This record gives sequence, structure tokens and C-alpha cells, in this order.
Amino acid sequence: MNALAISDLRKVYKNGFEALKGIDINVAEGDFFALLGPNGAGKSTAIGIISSLVNKTSGQVEVFGHDLDKDPEAVKSCIGLVPQEFNFNMWERIGEIVVNQAGFYGIPRKEAWRRAEASLKQLDLWDKRNQMSRTLSGGMKRRLMIARALVHRPKLLILDEPTAGVDIEIRRSMWAFMSELNAQGTTIILTTHYLEEAESLCRNIAIINQGRIVENTRMDQLLRQL
Ligand code: ADP
Ligand code: ADP
Repeated sequence: MNALAISDLRKVYKNGFEALKGIDINVAEGDFFALLGPNGAGKSTAIGIISSLVNKTSGQVEVFGHDLDKDPEAVKSCIGLVPQEFNFNMWERIGEIVVNQAGFYGIPRKEAWRRAEASLKQLDLWDKRNQMSRTLSGGMKRRLMIARALVHRPKLLILDEPTAGVDIEIRRSMWAFMSELNAQGTTIILTTHYLEEAESLCRNIAIINQGRIVENTRMDQLLRQL
């Protein structure tokens, strides 16, 4: 089964700007997939649509066989999203941030704490659960974003430019974490504008430019062409 199947996806923003001009993307279950493209290419728009944050203009999106139009809740429960910008409350405690996220998926509070514990431990943040999120370093804030995205145990994790503006040490530890998570069975889609990052992590890649997919291939084949 495909983790993600997108066909002829279009997005025209209210101002008339055509951000996606009919794209097709297929991501197999278990894949580590890169969506590579320069700033403004349409990566965040595509991810926003898959994650129900942005309405599509037309086209079809299926996540693990669930159609986004017919069963948006099933799609949401399959997906964990790590957006580019920190979007948690800086005055909220780390544990609460993750527990409340589980609440959005209808997970009862006691179970939510169990999940949050597992998720925060995975990212070495459990000991900090009672701290305000604003006290965390930049690298730890990134880890919090990931812990929060994993709390409902999504089958598909989508990370939007996860290592933008991150120093090399943190970047390496995030790469190791993502690889391990993928090895354990989570399908991962990563957007990036660094070929180097896609190259070191991903098995398959789509390149997007000005709202169109211009290349969609296995990473090793792409590298042979360069
Ligand atoms: P990327 O993530 O690849 O940098 P985006 O999906 O953020 O690209 O943006 C694609 C294009 O759509 C850009 O030209 C951007 O300016 C435009 N865009 C994004 N959001 C909106 C919006 N809400 N209204 C109009 N244009 C937008
Ligand atoms: P309620 O909302 O029912 O008053 P709490 O939110 O205080 O309960 O706690 C619900 C469960 O989560 C309890 O089992 C509690 O032990 C656990 N819990 C609450 N806060 C923490 C924390 N900071 N670290 C670990 N577990 C916690």
C-alpha cells in the first residue's frame, strides 16, 4: 500500500497565485522520501494540504488508502507533522504540550501521559517535562516539535525543513533519529532545499520547482545522473 498517493493536485491561493500546478507524488509504505525544491517551490503548500492545514483547489490525496475528502479524520490520525516554525506555547510546560496534542486525537488523559512519556523519552526530554518550553535550547525545541508530532504514533511523519538554521551537531543527531525511526517502520517525508540532506537520508526523491514536479526517482539513480 502507498503511504501517500497524490494525483493532479492543484492549489490556487485567494490572490490568484498558482502554487501547485497539478502534481503527482507516490510514497510507498516504509519509505524515506525527500521533497526537494528551492524556496517558493510549493513544498509547504503540498504538506499543508496533506495535513489538512491548507485547502486544495483540486486533485486527489490518499494517505494509507484513506481519501482526504471522504475521511479527513482517518488521514489526520495517520499523520504526524513537524512544521518549520516553532508553534507551541512558550509559556506552557513541555509535558502538557505533548499531552494536549494527544488530546486532539481523542486520547484520554491518562493514556495521553503514557504516550507523552514514551515520546518525550525517545527524544531525551522526559526529565524536562515540567519546564516551560521557552527555557529549552533551539535544538531541544526542535526535539519537542518531533515528540509532539509522534505522540499519537502516526504511520507517516512529515517534516518541513527540519534542520533549517540548525548547527551541524544537532542536524546530525536529528538525522540519526529520523533514520532510526524509519528503520522501525515509520514512513517519513522530508522537505528540504539541501540535496546533501536528502542524499544522506532518503531512498526516493521528488524535485519540485514553481509548482511542478520536475523529477521523481530513486535517490541512487538521481545521484548517478549528476
Ligand atoms: P516552499 O515551501 O517550497 O518554500 P510554499 O509552498 O511556501 O513554498 O510557497 C509556494 C508559493 O506560494 C510561494 O511563491 C509563496 O509565496 C506562495 N504562497 C504561499 N502561501 C500563500 C498564500 N497564503 N497566499 C498567496 N501565495 C502564497
Ligand atoms: P487530572 O487532569 O485528572 O487532574 P492530571 O493531568 O494531573 O490529572 O494527571 C493525569 C495523569 O497524568 C496522572 O496519572 C498523573 O500521574 C499523570 N501526570 C500528570 N502530570 C504529570 C507529569 N508532569 N509527569 C508525569 N505524569 C504526570
